[in-house]
Amino acid sequence: MRYGRAAVMVEPNRVETWEVPIVDPEPGGALVRVVLGGVCGSDAHIVSGEAGKMPFPIILGHEGVGRIEKLGAGVSTDYAGMPVKPGDLIYWAPIALCHRCHTCTVLDETPCDNSTFFEHAEKPNWGSYADYAWLPNGMAFYRLPDHANPDAVAALGCALPTVLRGFEQCGPVGQGDTVIVQGAGPVGLAAVLVAAVSGAQEIIVLDHSKNRLDVAISLGATGTISLKETSAEERHRQIQDRLGRRGASVVVEAAGALPAFPEGVDLTGNHGRYIILGLWGAIGTQPIAPRDLTIKNMKISGATFPKPKHYYQALHLAVRLQERYPLASLVSHRLAITDAVKALELVKSGASIKPVIDPTL
Ligand SMILES: [Zn+2]
Ligand SMILES: [Zn+2]
Repeated sequence: MRYGRAAVMVEPNRVETWEVPIVDPEPGGALVRVVLGGVCGSDAHIVSGEAGKMPFPIILGHEGVGRIEKLGAGVSTDYAGMPVKPGDLIYWAPIALCHRCHTCTVLDETPCDNSTFFEHAEKPNWGSYADYAWLPNGMAFYRLPDHANPDAVAALGCALPTVLRGFEQCGPVGQGDTVIVQGAGPVGLAAVLVAAVSGAQEIIVLDHSKNRLDVAISLGATGTISLKETSAEERHRQIQDRLGRRGASVVVEAAGALPAFPEGVDLTGNHGRYIILGLWGAIGTQPIAPRDLTIKNMKISGATFPKPKHYYQALHLAVRLQERYPLASLVSHRLAITDAVKALELVKSGASIKPVIDPTL
């Protein structure tokens, strides 16, 4: 039996490096050598225990680009019908679908009722903070185009598919839309990028970090406001000065902090839409004046757990834009599997744009 390394979360706030068996793929599945495992803000919430109970011990990592090591019986194409062979680079959607539950077949939605988001670390496993990922039958994966830069694909991680799902659910950004993005972590930056290529007239980004706000400008933001230097009232006034009385037509919550919610409701203009993406990891309540929703005829919608198609769209959008925007340079830190704890601290502190686990280190 051959073994590979994996970063295993044994219990909240305890991560260890384990040697785990490298298992042949099942029929319909694939065994992948991980090239990059994206380190995501939600991983930090999982490790701190804020995201609730998980079937510990688990191998961390739900964002991955890898190279096919071995294909399971019957697999000759990716999940979009492109031929694949060992050695090809792929990007996978980390939730397997059963195609025989109510959510899969009646609602045509995700997440599947029978999904296992994390597998026990002693079982074959698709966690990406590891040398190998074992993709079960039903876990969609897509071949990277030959000219794709894996860093550009990994740069926005699951944030880009999440944003694409959010805009699909709440209506896309169109020509002339005025967009406010709360937070310039990967979700906020992905929202900026999608809004920019969709023809938004203004994209104003709020964050506390000067570095992140500068990156937002490089991805198409037209203005930024520092949370550090302004009060909510000042921000409201600055935005009103800039957008006029109509206000923002689309506000995207990518802050992951509860106080962003009432401010986002406040900043959404008449007939506007407010899309909640970042509060996945922030359990709690916030007061708003519900009458504001009727007065403004506004719409609020949340979104999470993108579908395989959103991963497919994100992959191809990133590859198409990899020369036009500095996507690959968003990968700010590369860390070894054994440095998973350091990587999680980097996302938690906000000191990084996008750390990745690189198993060659
Ligand atoms: Zn299902
Ligand atoms: Zn993620």
